[in-house]
Amino acid sequence: MRPKIIKTQAKEIFTKTKLPGADWVINQYVGCGHNCSYCYARFMSRWKGYGKWGSWIEAKINAPELVRNKHVVGKVFMSSVSDAYQPIERELELTQKVLENMDKNIELSILTKSDLVLRDIDILKKFKKIDVGFTINSFSGKEKEMFEPDSPANQERIKAMKVLKKNGIKTYTFVSPIIPGLINIEEIIEQTRDYTDYYWFEVLNLRGAGKEFTELLEREYPESYKIMCDKRLLADYVNKLKNTIQKSGVNVKGIEIH
Ligand code: SF4
Repeated sequence: MRPKIIKTQAKEIFTKTKLPGADWVINQYVGCGHNCSYCYARFMSRWKGYGKWGSWIEAKINAPELVRNKHVVGKVFMSSVSDAYQPIERELELTQKVLENMDKNIELSILTKSDLVLRDIDILKKFKKIDVGFTINSFSGKEKEMFEPDSPANQERIKAMKVLKKNGIKTYTFVSPIIPGLINIEEIIEQTRDYTDYYWFEVLNLRGAGKEFTELLEREYPESYKIMCDKRLLADYVNKLKNTIQKSGVNVKGIEIH
């Protein structure tokens, strides 16, 4: 079902952040049509009161004007409570207009699950310091349907990353959410290492994913749930994970464990 679009006017567009590796965030959208069941931004639904996560998207239609002639010092992360290239972007082109108007000296980092980012490749190339990351987690079949129902397949993301890399744009792979037993780190690294400059790894934040997702995991993947809820088992899993990552020899920016 197509999400309800709520068009708003924002006062500010760059917001200070404590997110690792960033100084500012920009969210021209709030809400996300990718509708991931583990999304840590789901709490926004309670706050906004528009309905269930995935059923609404707030579009800050004056965002392209707000970024014009504005400079911020430090790294800007796009986006923290939405995906800048979620399906509605095809129609609204809000991200595209924001990028067109943004000062190209701004250090920008985009994280997406969509190959739609390729549409803006010529604008991205104008930024002096930019990287584009893709969330890669190898979910397919039943897991893809349950966890990430409305976003492009992992293979499409990898293909898009390859094209960006060929065009001289720095790329990174965000391996997330790492759920014990449901993700093959070695395979992900093998599939991406030729097209990615660096990696972030993030183990599932069960609390951030919320009650519904926790219940889903417990019901469908009891073994994974057991590891996530047991401190000792999780510590063992994380140690093995770190060894695997270290052995691979890839460039790692961070491993987030909550
Ligand atoms: S793509 Fe990102 S912001 Fe969108 S629903 Fe999924 S996790 Fe949330």
